[in-house]
Amino acid sequence: MSAEGGNDKVRIFVDHGSCSGTAHCQQSMPNVFVVANRKAQIRDDVDWDSIDVAQLMAVADSCPWYAITISS
Ligand code: SF4
Repeated sequence: MSAEGGNDKVRIFVDHGSCSGTAHCQQSMPNVFVVANRKAQIRDDVDWDSIDVAQLMAVADSCPWYAITISS
């Protein structure tokens, strides 16, 4: 697990200084996020080619602490 992940089309980063471990992201996309020790991590086994980037961006927008950054 790591605070970042992605492929050549999309990159994601979780700012652990902002993340409060609410787990909203894990509940929405458990295939990408897992919360450990009250910090969201990116799973090691994400199949990035099958990820819905629009859904990922919606999850980032719904983070109450704006801790998720998506780039492409
Ligand atoms: S929704 Fe945001 S604050 Fe909550 S666990 Fe995920 S990254 Fe952290």
